[in-house]
Amino acid sequence: MYEVRFHGRGGQGAVMAAQTFADAAVRAGHHAQAFPYFGAERRGAPVQAFARIDSRKIRLHSQVSEPDLIVVLDASLFELEPVTEGLRKGGRLAVNTPMRPEELEIGEGAEALTAVADATAIALETLKVPIVNTAMLGVMCRVQDLVPIDAITEAVQERFGGKLGALAGTANALSARRAYDVAAVGTARGRQRFARAKEWRPAWNEIPAGTSLPSSSVEGVEIGPGSARTNLTGEWRWSSPFYKKEKCIRCLRCWWSCPDAAIDRLDDDYMRWNFDYCKGCGICADICPVDAIDMIKGVHRWE
Ligand code: SF4
Ligand code: SF4
Repeated sequence: MYEVRFHGRGGQGAVMAAQTFADAAVRAGHHAQAFPYFGAERRGAPVQAFARIDSRKIRLHSQVSEPDLIVVLDASLFELEPVTEGLRKGGRLAVNTPMRPEELEIGEGAEALTAVADATAIALETLKVPIVNTAMLGVMCRVQDLVPIDAITEAVQERFGGKLGALAGTANALSARRAYDVAAVGTARGRQRFARAKEWRPAWNEIPAGTSLPSSSVEGVEIGPGSARTNLTGEWRWSSPFYKKEKCIRCLRCWWSCPDAAIDRLDDDYMRWNFDYCKGCGICADICPVDAIDMIKGVHRWE
């Protein structure tokens, strides 16, 4: 069995990448499956997705903990979570980065044959948006030979074309092909130990029996469908955004950029903050072009 783990951020399309890879694997004559894993957070937060390929029907449905291939849609994730954890001996990497494989830092003790390309630049050029999933499907084809690039572009064309229209399908297939053509392959090594920013995936013994229930709780850990709603992630913040409505020009940049979707867009295009989920990261204040948001120290809730 061949197992793949995708690491991305919410909004980069890691889930679609895993699904499209599985789709392409089926076109190439294999059995395949794909599924995602999310934490409570949304846009910008670390996301994992998994794919399995085999010559026989796959009955295993657990998350992939010992992958043959790890696909990294955002190289900054190496510093946030143990991306290369569990990589099998001889396992490979595909990474979105403008660096050469030899320049990459992949976490202490790790070493892997690695394909790299600046998937963000390719996506901006071909799609006009920094959604890198299809470019990374091309990059990963340089370090695995079970699913050929032609099956990938065919699956991309059909899946993205079916969802977003034929033009988008063609542009995404071009993104995959271009990344495949320019990807460099070499050996990446890990010399540096990264501090783990957050243990975001529960350990096996934290997962209660019956996680198919709407939600379950073990020692304060909320797990299961619906946990994003019950995990009030706003409690983590140490500063709070204060909205100066009179200055707001309704450009929507804050609404679009909030990694936790904690800003509601009202009917008149003014904003309202949802302090149950705002983590106080300050991105909205940073991105506002007219200084209409102040970050105030402390956990505040303004109407
Ligand atoms: S500070 Fe702004 S960008 Fe950050 S979570 Fe809160 S609303 Fe979203
Ligand atoms: S970024 Fe600033 S100006 Fe734009 S909608 Fe948000 S608060 Fe208003």
